Amino acid sequence: MTTNTAARDIVVIGAGIVGMASASYIQRAGHRVTILDPGGPGEGASFGNAGCLNGSSVVPVSMPGALAQVPRWLLDPQGPLVLRWRYLPAIAPWLWRFVRAGTPEKVAAQARALRALLGPTLESYAPLVKAAGAEDLIHRVGHLTVYKSEESFAKDGAAMGLRRDNGVVVDDLSFDELRQLEPGLSRDFVRGRMITETGHVGDPHRLVTRLAEAFARDGGRILRERAQGFEFADGAVTGVRGESGLHRADRIVLAAGAWSKSLARELGDVVPLDTERGYHVVLRDPETTPRHPIGSADGKFFATPMDQGLRVAGTVEFAGLDAPPDWRRARTLLRQAQAMFPGLARDIPESRISHWMGFRPSLPDSLPVIGPSRRYRNAFHAFGHGHVGLAGGAMTGRIVAALVDGAKPPIDITPFRVDRF
Ligand SMILES: Cc1cc2nc3c(=O)[nH]c(=O)nc-3n(C[C@H](O)[C@H](O)[C@H](O)COP(=O)(O)OP(=O)(O)OC[C@H]3O[C@@H](n4cnc5c(N)ncnc54)[C@H](O)[C@@H]3O)c2cc1C
Repeated sequence: MTTNTAARDIVVIGAGIVGMASASYIQRAGHRVTILDPGGPGEGASFGNAGCLNGSSVVPVSMPGALAQVPRWLLDPQGPLVLRWRYLPAIAPWLWRFVRAGTPEKVAAQARALRALLGPTLESYAPLVKAAGAEDLIHRVGHLTVYKSEESFAKDGAAMGLRRDNGVVVDDLSFDELRQLEPGLSRDFVRGRMITETGHVGDPHRLVTRLAEAFARDGGRILRERAQGFEFADGAVTGVRGESGLHRADRIVLAAGAWSKSLARELGDVVPLDTERGYHVVLRDPETTPRHPIGSADGKFFATPMDQGLRVAGTVEFAGLDAPPDWRRARTLLRQAQAMFPGLARDIPESRISHWMGFRPSLPDSLPVIGPSRRYRNAFHAFGHGHVGLAGGAMTGRIVAALVDGAKPPIDITPFRVDRF
């Protein structure tokens, strides 16, 4: 940790991967940091993601032609993307912005911004991972995308082109090359693509808890409290109201993931933040497991070899923060995993299966909000990382730590500004 003669009191709201990485980087700059979260570290979206540290994930969710897909989403309850009818009025303005974000020019700009944020993922994590003794959780074997037909391989060409335009090296694989890399993969997958620069985490929740342990060891405070609002004086935030009282702060960071919207509003910023809910299923002691994380282009899910077993994660469900999970979606992921890896048992005892649902914090243009609030010079946003918050957490931490010190962030943060909507 560096010694900072101007050590300040910083409150970080949210102990997901984004809040935890931010708090860790701010602490390394020599400040006194308190984190507030009603739950334990990493129990939100950061608990159950697919674990991919993909600096190559530069393709926004809304791509040209998104409008044409909407009717299909509405009609296929088992498809990779569903909308609960009851939630349609609430999500409609978000969807409208989402569709409008998918023009070729906007997509090219979003991809450039995402590459800057995500490209240095592994090196941005490296100092935090080392200090937390978490090297065993980080694997650097690249990842595969697999296709069931030449047609879907060709259809994904535009997205892969966007990656290549941003400096990602993508290798196209034949049927046989794919088998050599992944012998257990079903022969239904006829083509593949390999990206070698990426990594993955053996247990995303444990990564956050290890960062939390190191943070506490180095003097940081983590309080199990919900942030309820702020105190202000002279155009600045002076404290965060928590359940136990007021926490005085010289600077605050809002990193409450999908729950950041109302707190951002209190800071004067109206943001179209919603949630793309996602699911996972974990199979303990799988009969077979892939060597790499594998993304199914057709099924829109990832199968990642993890410490607890094989995790299959994905799908997008628009249903807000309050609706109960629809566990049929996790069962669909399980069936897809069994089809992807024929070596898996057909009847897997429930004792070997666990399910999870989490809330991706999503903005319609697939970019997070990172930067100062419009109204309060000492309040900084760090939320809305959608599908890439694990990969983007560490660079976000570096950015926020620079902002807290009034220094120049390591990358251009203009694309992530809160007033872009
Ligand atoms: C199925 C699935 C697969 C995914 N796969 C990947 C992947 O492979 N790679 C990748 O990079 N990303 C992936 N993601 C996305 C990634 O998980 C998220 O972008 C990331 O976890 C967001 O982190 P966060 O810290 O912003 O939010 P969270 O982890 O949700 O943390 C927010 C925290 O804020 C707390 N909070 C809420 N309200 C308050 C309050 N009022 N006061 C204090 N605290 C509060 C919550 O309790 C929570 O702990 C996936 C997501 C899903 C759902």
